[in-house]
Amino acid sequence: MKYIFVTGGVVSSLGKGLATASIGTLLEHRGLNVTIQKFDPYLNVDPGTMSPYQHGEVYVLNDGAETDLDLGHYERFTNCVLTRFNNLTSGQVFENVIKKERRGEYLGKTVQFIPHVTDEIKARIHELARRNPDVSVILTEIGGTVGDIEGHLFLEALRQFSLEVGRKNVCFIHVTLLPLIRAAGEIKTKPTQQSVAKLREIGIQPDIIICRTEHDLDEDNRRKIAMFCNVEQKNVVAFRDVKHSIYECPLDLRRDKIDRLVVDNLGIGSPTPDLEDWEDFVERVINPKHTVTIAVVGKYIELQDAYKSIYESLTIAGAAHFTKVNVVRVDSEAIEKDGAQKLIGEVDGILIPGGFGDRGIEGKVQTAHYARTMKVPYFGICLGMQVATVEYARNVCDLKGADSTECNKDSPHPVICLQEEQKGVKDLGATMRLGSCESILFAGTRASELYNGVDVINERHRHRYEFNSDYLDQLKDAGLVISSVSVKEGLVEIIELPDHPFYLGAQFHPEFKSKPNFPHPLFSGFVKAALDSKVAIPA
Ligand code: GLN
Repeated sequence: MKYIFVTGGVVSSLGKGLATASIGTLLEHRGLNVTIQKFDPYLNVDPGTMSPYQHGEVYVLNDGAETDLDLGHYERFTNCVLTRFNNLTSGQVFENVIKKERRGEYLGKTVQFIPHVTDEIKARIHELARRNPDVSVILTEIGGTVGDIEGHLFLEALRQFSLEVGRKNVCFIHVTLLPLIRAAGEIKTKPTQQSVAKLREIGIQPDIIICRTEHDLDEDNRRKIAMFCNVEQKNVVAFRDVKHSIYECPLDLRRDKIDRLVVDNLGIGSPTPDLEDWEDFVERVINPKHTVTIAVVGKYIELQDAYKSIYESLTIAGAAHFTKVNVVRVDSEAIEKDGAQKLIGEVDGILIPGGFGDRGIEGKVQTAHYARTMKVPYFGICLGMQVATVEYARNVCDLKGADSTECNKDSPHPVICLQEEQKGVKDLGATMRLGSCESILFAGTRASELYNGVDVINERHRHRYEFNSDYLDQLKDAGLVISSVSVKEGLVEIIELPDHPFYLGAQFHPEFKSKPNFPHPLFSGFVKAALDSKVAIPA
């Protein structure tokens, strides 16, 4: 097994996650089997209870783990299928250490940061290796920035780890910022020198430095960084701001042959990658033939990261139809004030993503109503499916006051409500209906057609509230089509309307399974419908 550790220096938001995912892609294109994990130094056990404003999207894995959004990049950029063992937080590390202490597993010893906490961190890397017998390279990204107090133990653990498995089996990559000081017209290498010095203080000498830069990296600066940071000049790599799309990142890093440097450093023989499929995909993203405008109506719209996988899924589905998807982000509370017609009257499609709590919910119900009655393609995901159900109950079935009990506990018609097993739940962490589960698709529905007629699908969930089966017959009789139910519990998974260009809601999260080589069928169908309805109504 070979190990790649990716650290970050100077500032956060350098694209360390994208750099790691891109190296993963390039190594896979060299025929290597990889897996990617993320270490997050914060104390939460997982990001599940963190606000999207703090943390961005929570990315859900097949096994139901609620993880950092970088894992979304890893899964989209590679063929890896990740599990809860691919995301380790300080919260998990300390939880494990303290549980072991209580069980008496440290046999009378004083429990210390070194070795007990660092051992716990190292054990996770070995555990991941053990669970992935087919993998020959593990990439580990360390969240945060070198110099952060909370990241220190992770870096110390990696230093020890590299000694234990043999330094030749480990490649340390440091991603850093090369700022351009405009007034002087110069690129500055000092922050990089200092952050590498910080890393070396801990005992880690990077093998490769990835320099995030707005411009190109000239040979003078490359030489300077190499000399001050004690790396070979060829191992100083530029990572430029990509022009159009994050999917250009692997191609940009390939310009300085990052993958070649990594395999040479680790002593792995592998052929030059053939990136034709990736280049084709990027070409479709950056040179589209058509455009559509989709409104995403949510409550965290000002934050780019809050609906990351949704935006990526739209881009990917667009590429499948040679279409650029322009996203208009609309605050559902603004719909409450100004009305749907004014804010989303011009768009080709409307998507309501997942969400929690009652803020802005009536704006979402109004949005679903607008889409249904004005025949605008509508895709509701999780909460977006629930508000479409509420809207149908209120306005088509005439169930006054119909609601989800998440928003109104005393609703006379709780068409969305808690399942029995959720009622006693007190802890908020990891207690939702989470992860992949099977559901049956009913033939003859639009959903079935989009999934190519398969009988059973497997999709990822993250929610507490469900379609209330007490109202099933009433809603069906009024024309709502149930196109999928879960195999185990018979819970409603997909709803749709037949006499509409596209009106579909899914209780699960298809955005967690879309990737360049697998545009999700529901996203693809939605974007196609938006494109068709745009063509149908000439401007
Ligand atoms: N808040 C809703 C629930 O818990 C929807 C969740 C979601 O959209 N992810 O059921």
